[in-house]
Amino acid sequence: MRTGETTYMNIHTLDLGFRNLPGAAAAFLVTGGGEHLLVECGPAACHERLLKGLARHGSSPDRIAHLFLTHIHLDHAGASGLLARRGAAVHVHPKGARHLVDPERLNASASRVFGDALEPELGRMVACPADQVHPTEAGAVVPTEAGSFTALETPGHAGHHHAWLIEDPSGERHLFSGDAAGMRLPGTRFPTFPMVPPEFDLERWLQSIETMIEADPTSLWMTHFDRIEDPLEHLHRVREDLVEEARQVCTFLEEDESSAVDRYRRWHLEQATSRGVDPRLLERHCTGTHYATNLTGVARWLQQGGTVP
Ligand SMILES: [Zn+2]
Repeated sequence: MRTGETTYMNIHTLDLGFRNLPGAAAAFLVTGGGEHLLVECGPAACHERLLKGLARHGSSPDRIAHLFLTHIHLDHAGASGLLARRGAAVHVHPKGARHLVDPERLNASASRVFGDALEPELGRMVACPADQVHPTEAGAVVPTEAGSFTALETPGHAGHHHAWLIEDPSGERHLFSGDAAGMRLPGTRFPTFPMVPPEFDLERWLQSIETMIEADPTSLWMTHFDRIEDPLEHLHRVREDLVEEARQVCTFLEEDESSAVDRYRRWHLEQATSRGVDPRLLERHCTGTHYATNLTGVARWLQQGGTVP
């Protein structure tokens, strides 16, 4: 610890206005030791919002020394090239690194999935200069002026997914979970899960939740959305909710695939309202695409031999 200088970290949640919804996706500005860093950067389509958020906290892209990505999906990493070109070192799972340098496959597959919604909602990823991209192995520690970031291998939502753990000099253990701890409708305690193809894997995801519990975080920062004050309670709960939801999705698929989206949606609405969630909030965040995508993700996982525990 240096004298005469505060070494405590500050973490600011920047709401990126993703899909024009408050509380849908975040980037996190971390400042400490005179350095500014980002965890996640959001999609290219939200870059203006990111710049405004940085400016509000006295920061700018030129000040960002490091960008930590949990995975390379466009809602998390789409703007990474724009930051790398301004000097940020980008830390990412080794399996994601080459797609940041050459994002054509990523953009093409996003275009197939999202169609006309790609440009307005996500935008296309701009390539990162190769020498700005740092593949980070599981367990590796990246030192920064603000503190050391440890990469926790946390697949399940994506095959290449790191959660980032940083310990504050005060002893706080902040964990940035990307999508590995699920998502949460803003202002509620209701979790939702992106069980997306082609890499959804329930067994690996549950193992990832164990990994995060073992990391014993004192605060959890979810990209969708924001700080969770009771991380261990949240992680234990999402472990149960994830299994329960995957089991339900399997049942919908087995019974009748053609009506599975509708039945899944109705079931989810019942779950949400029984926990006091405003149905309009659920509908804004979980569209038909969410359910259809999850059904495809689970079906693919089952084809590859997945079984619900
Ligand atoms: Zn996401």
